[in-house]
Amino acid sequence: MDNKQNDKKGPQNRQTLVIFIIITLLTFAAMTFFSSMFMEARSKKITYTEFLDMVEKGEVKRVEITPTQINIEPKKQPSKFVEIIYYTGVLEDEDLLDKLDAKGIDYDGKIPDSRSTILDIIFVYVLPLVLIWIMFGFIMKRMSKGGGVMGVGKNNAKVYMDKETGVTFKDVAGQDEAKESLQEVVDFLHNPGKYTAIGAKLPKGALLVGPPGTGKTLLAKAVAGEAKVPFFSLAGSDFVEMFVGVGASRVRDLFKEAQKNAPCIIFIDEIDAIGKSRDSRYGGNDEREQTLNQLLAEMDGFDTAKGVMILAATNRPEILDKALLRPGRFDRRIIVDKPDLKGRLEVLKVHSKDVLMDDSVDLEEIAMATSGAVGSDLANMINEAAILAVKNGRRYVNQADLFESVEVVIAGKEKKDRVLSEKEKRTVAYHETGHALITALLKDAEPVQKITIVPRTMGSLGYVMQVPEEEKFLMSKDELMARLVTFFGGRAAEELVFHTVTTGASNDIEQATNIARAMVTRFGMSDKFGLMALESVESQYLDGRTVLNCGEETAAQIDGEVMAILRECYEKAKKLLSENMDVMKALADFLYEKETITGKQFMEIFHRVKGDSSEEECHTGSGAQES
Ligand code: ADP
Repeated sequence: MDNKQNDKKGPQNRQTLVIFIIITLLTFAAMTFFSSMFMEARSKKITYTEFLDMVEKGEVKRVEITPTQINIEPKKQPSKFVEIIYYTGVLEDEDLLDKLDAKGIDYDGKIPDSRSTILDIIFVYVLPLVLIWIMFGFIMKRMSKGGGVMGVGKNNAKVYMDKETGVTFKDVAGQDEAKESLQEVVDFLHNPGKYTAIGAKLPKGALLVGPPGTGKTLLAKAVAGEAKVPFFSLAGSDFVEMFVGVGASRVRDLFKEAQKNAPCIIFIDEIDAIGKSRDSRYGGNDEREQTLNQLLAEMDGFDTAKGVMILAATNRPEILDKALLRPGRFDRRIIVDKPDLKGRLEVLKVHSKDVLMDDSVDLEEIAMATSGAVGSDLANMINEAAILAVKNGRRYVNQADLFESVEVVIAGKEKKDRVLSEKEKRTVAYHETGHALITALLKDAEPVQKITIVPRTMGSLGYVMQVPEEEKFLMSKDELMARLVTFFGGRAAEELVFHTVTTGASNDIEQATNIARAMVTRFGMSDKFGLMALESVESQYLDGRTVLNCGEETAAQIDGEVMAILRECYEKAKKLLSENMDVMKALADFLYEKETITGKQFMEIFHRVKGDSSEEECHTGSGAQES
């Protein structure tokens, strides 16, 4: 490949030289043309007779006699803007000086000035040449940096090269399994001889798979940091250009550059941008396919013994081309999933290391309240809390700041300027109380942390914040049903109190429908279909989109089944609330007035109104809810 590159360089240099010569010649031609035009405009030839005539009439101010011509400066210039010098040839006129003396005209001869000739040559010829050379070199450099005309062609991998990432596994919280798998990679890079001695081939690439923000890039950097090798990073989309062949050449350059710097790590983020399956299902694209082919070829071609390791990240592994995943390419798949409770706690600890916090802070509680959050969310929450503390004039972050920032990250900032009408505010108060009351009434439900009816920037008019007592990985059918009942608590409250319904429940309805549908099609929880898989998940790490695997008739029946489940849960919600109207009213009134109610206040009112005896009447069931 190197030879080919050199071959290519030869003609390229010749071409550069030709372009340079052409530009220089053109510049000279232009300069000569313009300077002669200028000179011509300034000097005018006259005949010797005319000259003598001018002398006679006293129109001449000064005369300069050179061996080849006589330059005549007239007394009166025809125009104010241009100074014209007349000239004429030299004749053997012995009386000339007498005539000039007679008229009192100043005259002079001219000594050829060798010094000024050299300066003239420097200024007129050499300096412009040097300037052109410098400008030309600068333009060529810009062009080759950007990759030729209009910046197309070369890779910009170097821009993202990190000699030392400075990140280690200590900076990546949780993700223990991923770290364990990557520890091997670090070892390969550290000591490739150990593996080659025994005859083992080193792996070429590993694919980091997981939802956005779980720390895939961070892990890749940590591998480079642990192994103390340079880190080349590029996003898949950096390869893709409008012009066919550009991506491929970028891949080539990237690998060449990396091999020069071996041992090192190449990290390709969002590899799905180029690694999409080549079958037409996801839409074909010549440029992308060529880039992918080049990547495949490069991965086969390079020698792992040198210690180049490719890490790639994606959150859509299902659309990757199979050829990319076969042994010898990205054959290792490392799952970097959303952190569990322990993982979240560790992420919070890592990011709060340098944040000043007071004694009220209990990160475990925050970790509990942030089920489903990924590493980047948690990092963001800690930062928001710190900003909040500063805003409130405190020098330490407290637990309230952290909870507030959890809300900001989940639901957006409070939108204080949105003023709800009295009726709307009351509706929202009852809606949120409906959710929370059902949570409290169902025995297994998670305790309510806080309810608020201050509108938030992300669109919600109010919400119930819950903190589960423990993290759950499995949900029973009863728990799911209880969840559905809780989702409908808001709508049921509206209907019971106002005898009408509003648009406020749309999100609840959507989420409830998703759960009910999954129960029927994926969890085998409907009596009608039993253990039949009717849907499969397509993009597990992104939106969890599903595709239906059944006939139209079955699809219609699924809808019927989902409808029945939802209806049953809604009726249950209405029943529960109608039996506790007095508690609901007390809670909603409090919420209407104060706009926020904490879990403690909520339970106080709940117990006070219901009375001690009613605690025993609590309906059984289970669930969790968010509004
Ligand atoms: P991804 O590449 O998976 O989308 P990143 O690695 O870019 O996510 O993570 C974004 C940011 O989130 C990181 O810079 C880091 O601050 C934080 N983060 C994510 N996961 C973790 C983790 N496991 N430990 C510590 N910080 C994390």
